[in-house]
Amino acid sequence: MTVHPQHDAIIVGAGFGGIGAAIQLNRLGLDNLAILEREDDLGGTWHVNHYPGLAVDIASVTYSYSFEPNPYWSRMFAPGAELKRYAEHVADKYNLRRYMRFNTSVTGSRWDEDEQYWVVNVEDGPSITARYLLTATGFLSQPKTPDIAGIDTFEGKVIHTTKWDDTYDLTDRRAAIIGTGATSVQLVPRVADKVRELTVYQRTPIWLVPKVDLPIPGVVQRLFDRAPVTQKVARVVNSSVLEAIMVAGVLHYRQAKIFNKGAELIARAQLRAQVRDKKTREELTPDYSFGCKRPSFSNEYLAAFNKDHVRLETTSIDHIEPNAIVTTDGNRTEIDTLILATGFNLWDVNFPAIEILGRDGRNLGKWWRDNRFQAYEGISVPHFPNFMTLASPYSYSGLSYFTTIESQMKHMDRLLSESKRRGATTFEVKQDANDEFLDRCTEQLDDSVFYNGNCQTSRSYYFNQHGEAAILRPTSTLNALREASRFPLEDYTYA
Ligand code: NAP
Repeated sequence: MTVHPQHDAIIVGAGFGGIGAAIQLNRLGLDNLAILEREDDLGGTWHVNHYPGLAVDIASVTYSYSFEPNPYWSRMFAPGAELKRYAEHVADKYNLRRYMRFNTSVTGSRWDEDEQYWVVNVEDGPSITARYLLTATGFLSQPKTPDIAGIDTFEGKVIHTTKWDDTYDLTDRRAAIIGTGATSVQLVPRVADKVRELTVYQRTPIWLVPKVDLPIPGVVQRLFDRAPVTQKVARVVNSSVLEAIMVAGVLHYRQAKIFNKGAELIARAQLRAQVRDKKTREELTPDYSFGCKRPSFSNEYLAAFNKDHVRLETTSIDHIEPNAIVTTDGNRTEIDTLILATGFNLWDVNFPAIEILGRDGRNLGKWWRDNRFQAYEGISVPHFPNFMTLASPYSYSGLSYFTTIESQMKHMDRLLSESKRRGATTFEVKQDANDEFLDRCTEQLDDSVFYNGNCQTSRSYYFNQHGEAAILRPTSTLNALREASRFPLEDYTYA
């Protein structure tokens, strides 16, 4: 007797990736969905992060669904809270909340070969079954707490940037921030505004270029609203610039490193213009090529180090005491607030973020680690039928996450439409199609900044434990979108 699964599909994650996937599945006529979310609300990154200074650093005309433009972004680079409201708006407009179960942590999932469906286990509840499983768990969703001796003995306030405590008053505090990635760049100026003393512990400096960010006047917002084509044009122009940066500066560094050198010149000019102290300026200057590690934009971060109460510390941290940080030169800095802007763990715990067991019990995380990180077109994996991994190796396309989301939506559309046309209930990507895609990615990365730039000292999360830059899809976004709607249908088996 055939046992029917409870749902057409389970989507893990209610961020922009999961929301996009649900919209696409609805368009395909699948409306018995469950979206499982470990947090207490939707929005993913933009729900979890609400530290002071949070804003998007890809212009909002591009960092949004192309089919759901928001004419009313307040700035060119919208603040985090607006992104969260936008996620809520889209979820409401597409009536997706009915599928969402919050505070629901998925502990694992396995393909049931007999029943031909996925069995998904959740904490504190019965398992749930679905024909399809889609993981939209994000790239930067497993916060990293540094393993520094004595950190657990600290008696003051400890805040990881992903768990910002909005009720905590920074006024007059003696604070430390560990980490100088894109998060710290946004946070440091805001914390510096409040505290009595701030020490920023830097291990690796970040390349920073100026941020051209202006409020969007009401008249432009109304124009975007009344004549949507104008916002479309703005999107195309902005996306084209991002695409040029990505293709030339990242993917074709070997041929076009002049772009990276140009960006370094701009960044160095900003350092000279904004940082008065020579030693601090030198310490804030990266020694790796622009693009090895994600650069960022800011007009305020560097200048914060001119303030008398803000200090950059580049000596390594030795240990933490109940009320101080001690560096390896024995220097002891008393603090009462420890802010961890230490980012995320991608390669040990995030690919995949949950246990996924495919056919014959193949464990996706183990298989990726024992072999190489890989996913056909950044979305499917042999031995894992009816499974789509949305935050996967070689899937991140271009500079805006929405390009990735929308190309994956197109892929879903083509694959599931074909499946339906054939009356099939399962699909699985063929091994040789997967291998060919991996070979192509490997070959195309040959020209990239990752293998031709000077990246040794960058400590970039783009590289995995094997030294492979396996996150970004090394093609143009146009290629990604085109292939998503034209990949050979026979790259899959259908049954
Ligand atoms: P990150 O770029 O990974 O930076 C983490 C920082 O913590 C690095 O400076 C790292 O130093 C440091 N660190 C980690 N462990 C340490 C340890 N044990 N001791 C000393 N330092 C340590 O993380 P993030 O700043 O949170 O940014 C992550 C990504 O989120 C960004 O690249 C970006 O993609 C995204 N983001 C986007 C926005 C936006 O769009 N608005 C804003 C913020 C973040 P090393 O570099 O030496 O490892």
